[in-house]
Amino acid sequence: MSLFFWFSRRQRIHNLGRKKDSFFHLSIPPKISDNILPPPNLPRLMHHHNHHIIANLLHLLAGGGLGLIGASLAMAFGWRSADRLPGESRRPQCVYCSRPHTWQELSPLIGWLLRPDTLSFPCPCGQRTGVWQQPVCELVGFALGGLAMYLQDWSWAALPLCLGIGLLPAIALIDFYFGIIPDGLNFLLGVFGFLFVLFRGDDFFFGLVASGALLALGLFFAIVYSKWRGREMLGLGDVKLFAAAGMWLHLHTAPWFLALGGFIGVLFNLIWRRISDDKQFPFAPALCLSLALCVFYQLIGSP
Ligand SMILES: [Zn+2]
Repeated sequence: MSLFFWFSRRQRIHNLGRKKDSFFHLSIPPKISDNILPPPNLPRLMHHHNHHIIANLLHLLAGGGLGLIGASLAMAFGWRSADRLPGESRRPQCVYCSRPHTWQELSPLIGWLLRPDTLSFPCPCGQRTGVWQQPVCELVGFALGGLAMYLQDWSWAALPLCLGIGLLPAIALIDFYFGIIPDGLNFLLGVFGFLFVLFRGDDFFFGLVASGALLALGLFFAIVYSKWRGREMLGLGDVKLFAAAGMWLHLHTAPWFLALGGFIGVLFNLIWRRISDDKQFPFAPALCLSLALCVFYQLIGSP
């Protein structure tokens, strides 16, 4: 009796190794992984939906943090760049007393969070309240960065993506207040777009083509159309923004960027004419919104 069990055990172990059909082999449940192959797109689905929820939250926070940092620094230095007179310091300073910001005041988030009576949005010295532009810009940057990270795989490409998309609220707000897009911000936007395409391993030749095409089109409108209409239709800052946006766009989304930007621009223009008697309409907010929508659309199409 015991000899029989001993033999049966030996035989089963033997069969495990040889995978040979036998009476004993039937008693061993087959390993699922041997017979059923996972569908080819399972790893991607698992990455997005079955991933640990803490890890997902950390990804979102990291993306939001990057967007917030991009928005914060772009806003602080871009605002100063648009506001300063030639020869003055480039260092951001208090809008009331012109004292240069300390490093702590320049830090994203805590720069304004640690000021006394935070909710009245005071300037660093507390003499003026209602300075909401920096916090709002940072919060929008956080939201855009988090959303971008949600749509993009966790990879090096997310770094320029979230930093770059954080520049958009800063560019929009600065153009709204000063009618100027700082060259540095346009340049950074283009560089981040280039790095994003590069890190993704996409072909950046098409980005350059889209960028060149938008630049040519923008120049055409800025020079020819403005001469024809007798007033400035498009500033040179907008033209540079076109070129920087082209670095982010696929060839087939570039026309959508233009059409959407034009459509949102017309809507904003209607509002602008009601709230302001300034003839010079800031176009960058419409372009930034359009670019953000196009980039998100591209991410949804090919994460
Ligand atoms: Zn001050």
